[in-house]
Amino acid sequence: DDLPDPDVVAARPADVRPPEPGPESDKYRRGVVGILAGGDEYTGAAVLSTGGAVHGGAGMVRFASVAHPVELVRQRWPEVVTTVIEPGPHEPKVLERVGRVQAWVAGPGLGTGDAAESLLAAVLATELPVLVDADGLTVLARRRDLLLRPAPTVLTPHAGELSRLLGVPREDVEARRLEHARRAAAELSATVLLKGSTTLVAEQDRPVRVNPTGTPRLATAGTGDVLSGLIGALLAGGMSALDAAASGAYLHGLAARLASAPHPSAAEAPISAYDVITALPDAFR
Ligand code: AMP
Ligand code: MG
Repeated sequence: DDLPDPDVVAARPADVRPPEPGPESDKYRRGVVGILAGGDEYTGAAVLSTGGAVHGGAGMVRFASVAHPVELVRQRWPEVVTTVIEPGPHEPKVLERVGRVQAWVAGPGLGTGDAAESLLAAVLATELPVLVDADGLTVLARRRDLLLRPAPTVLTPHAGELSRLLGVPREDVEARRLEHARRAAAELSATVLLKGSTTLVAEQDRPVRVNPTGTPRLATAGTGDVLSGLIGALLAGGMSALDAAASGAYLHGLAARLASAPHPSAAEAPISAYDVITALPDAFR
C-alpha cells in the first residue's frame, strides 16, 4: 500500500510475543477459547478453525455447534470439549451450556440465516473479547448494531467481506486497502484485520500494523479459518486485540512458509490449510 507513513508500521519478530506459560500455569490460566463455527452445510471450516486454536497455545478449546460439525471436530481433535446445540434460532442464554471461556471465535461456516444471527447476537452480548470471521461478517453487515459493545471485537474480513460491511464496492476496497481498513476500525469500533496479499491490522488511534510474513501459498481455501482460531487462542491467553491479531497474522504466514519449504534449501511446495495448522508449532519456535 502507501508505505512509508508514520501511522503504518511493519510488524517485527520482536512484536510477536505469544503468552508463555509460567511454572504455576494451568489450562484455565493459559486461556479457554470458545469456537462457534460450522453448520449442517459447512463443516470443514469448524475443523480448521478449531485446529488453529488447538495449535495456537490455548489452555483449552471449547467448541459448540449443531451435531454434525461437533462429531467431526470430536473425531479430529479429541482434546476439544464439545457441546451440541439445537438448530436455531437461539435464546440469548444459549452459550451458558458451553461453559466458561475467556474469548470467543464466531463465524466460519456458520451460515447466514436466523440461526447464525441469533448465535452472533448472543456471543456479542457477552463482555468477553470476540473475533468474528467469514459468515459471521456477512451477518454483521446487516446487524452492525451488534458491534456496540464494551468488550474488544476483532473482525477478520477479506476485501469482499469488508466491502459488504462498509457498503462500498469491492474494487474500492482493493484499490485503497489501508484507507478502508482504518475507516472500518473507526466506524465499526473494532480491531480490523484486512486479509489479502498484504495483511493489515487497524485499530483506532494506533498505527496500522503491516504483516511481513504472508505468502501467496496461503491463497487456498480454509487458511482463513485457521487464522481465526489461532487469533482466538491468543486473545484467550490475554493478549490485547491488536497484538493478538498482528501476532496471529505473523505466525500464520510464517507457518505457511515453513509448511511450504521446511528448511532454507528446500524448494517450495503447495500447501493445504491443514498443513498450516501442522506447522504452527514450528512457527512459534
Ligand atoms: P480467506 O480469505 O478467509 O480464505 O483467508 C485467506 C488467507 O490467505 C488470509 O490469511 C489471506 O491473507 C491469505 N492470502 C490470500 N491471498 C494471498 C496472497 N496473494 N498473498 C498472501 N496471502 C494471501
Ligand atoms: Mg474466510
